[in-house]
Amino acid sequence: MPPLQVVWFKRDLRVFDHAPLYEASQRGWVLPLYIVEPELWRQPDASNRQWRFIRECLLELDRALGERAGRASGLIVRVGDAVETLEAIHQAHGIGALWAHMEIGNNWTFQRDKAVRRWARARGVPFYELPQDGVIRGLSSRTGWREHWEAAMSQPLVPAPTHLRIPPLRSDALPVSVGDDDCPYAQRGGRTRGLALLRSFLGHRVRRYARGLSSPLTAPSACSRLSPYRAYGVLSLREVVQATRRRIEQVGDDPKQAGLLRALQAFESRLGWRSHFMQRLESLPSIEFEPMHPALAHERTEIDPALFDAWAHGRTGYPFVDACMRMLHATGWINFRMRAMLTAFACYHLWQPWRAVGLHLARLFVDYEPGIHWSQIQMQSGSTGISAFRIYNVVKQSYDQDPTGVFIRRWVPELRRVPAAWIHEPYRMPLEMQRAYGCIIGVDYPAPIVAHEAAARAAREKLRRAYSTPEAKAISEQILQRHSRRSQREPRPRPTPQFQLELFEQ
Ligand SMILES: Cc1cc2nc3c(=O)[nH]c(=O)nc-3n(C[C@H](O)[C@H](O)[C@H](O)COP(=O)(O)OP(=O)(O)OC[C@H]3O[C@@H](n4cnc5c(N)ncnc54)[C@H](O)[C@@H]3O)c2cc1C
Repeated sequence: MPPLQVVWFKRDLRVFDHAPLYEASQRGWVLPLYIVEPELWRQPDASNRQWRFIRECLLELDRALGERAGRASGLIVRVGDAVETLEAIHQAHGIGALWAHMEIGNNWTFQRDKAVRRWARARGVPFYELPQDGVIRGLSSRTGWREHWEAAMSQPLVPAPTHLRIPPLRSDALPVSVGDDDCPYAQRGGRTRGLALLRSFLGHRVRRYARGLSSPLTAPSACSRLSPYRAYGVLSLREVVQATRRRIEQVGDDPKQAGLLRALQAFESRLGWRSHFMQRLESLPSIEFEPMHPALAHERTEIDPALFDAWAHGRTGYPFVDACMRMLHATGWINFRMRAMLTAFACYHLWQPWRAVGLHLARLFVDYEPGIHWSQIQMQSGSTGISAFRIYNVVKQSYDQDPTGVFIRRWVPELRRVPAAWIHEPYRMPLEMQRAYGCIIGVDYPAPIVAHEAAARAAREKLRRAYSTPEAKAISEQILQRHSRRSQREPRPRPTPQFQLELFEQ
């Protein structure tokens, strides 16, 4: 058997539109490899719910690879450290080349990839890391980035290889779990499910997208729900973008379909944001650990265990906040607005450290995608110096997004008998009503852990002080130049940091 073409699957668990697999298949015997890395699963942003989703994707990938090799299964799984695993395969069988997609992950995966590159150089094994999602490694300026992204998304999709020569090597069993985190209603993995969601979304669900995406009641079916399939590369970004564009063409400029067209375009632009934020992490990996703007670097450094714990487990005394957190625990997903509100409540009202908040949420998200996640955590916690401070009024959100309280009652059963008039602020109920509705505040359900309006005022004042000095403004201007989406559009009026720092309450 000639030296093997090893295809290392990471966040690209598919055979279709997979350039490394296709290229490797043209060159001889292919070893499709997935390494279960125990150290990765010990990282503070990793969780069992993410693994369970990945595992289901791997089982389907295994079958898809097997079909192309004329047998039941085709994926070779190894449990261990990446360098040690590759070294063992190289010693035993000889690796002719190593193929992978460039991974835009967290610092741990970046360092691991560097170690693999060093190993490959030392062994004289060519390591081809092909880009995906339109993200550029080592980019120094964002000028021309949009054109590059557009070109990457417009390229023809790479066909799945029709035939693979895979050697019959030993494969480890996929661990059933890597931790004890339970998520009973998590989305299930696998390309078949991802494609079905893409079809149902573009086919009919997208009609409810614009109206449905803000409320956690309607968002679960109105949003595409493609995020975990994208996070682990079960569908390629390019195939989702191209399918969306085909649908946009079908709709055309029929005035009766104007709403549908706008919804499709809104969805398409979010697919672009995804790459924008991944590019931000690639160009500024420090955002995983340090605030983009130093104005608040010495504030919010200590966790208050009582406040943090109450937030993290959905016991803040604000029913809508608690319902969102508990839904997230049980399902591994919540919509954008509620992710932003949960972050803002922890980082503004409770004044907790943004990284600890971000790690807790990362573990809860089945779709954890470091590039989007850390960019959004920084933005929603007021750490960038270029995004507006969205200090959500959590009671107003409750009335707006869940007027009758049906969402709250579903996730906070302590309040199930409380009528709509009191459900948003049960702490205002007179004691006899609390008794009548079977929910004594402070006994059956917590009293609010902070007074939300006063806490929001205090946070707003701290933000104003920290970001309004001439030095802070100058730093905001520099950040804006380098990292804002606006800085990619030419020509454009330059927004001033003053405008960006506008304070408002939602
Ligand atoms: C604090 C915070 C953390 C977040 N962390 C993650 C994360 O770890 N992983 C993740 O995929 N998304 C994250 N998001 C973005 C967004 O909330 C989710 O992408 C979205 O809710 C996923 O559901 P969907 O696929 O149905 O979204 P849809 O609305 O159907 O959007 C389709 C796709 O577009 C992309 N997208 C949507 N919104 C955004 C956005 N604001 N920025 C960048 N890309 C976007 C995603 O890939 C998404 O799957 C975060 C948002 C916030 C506020």
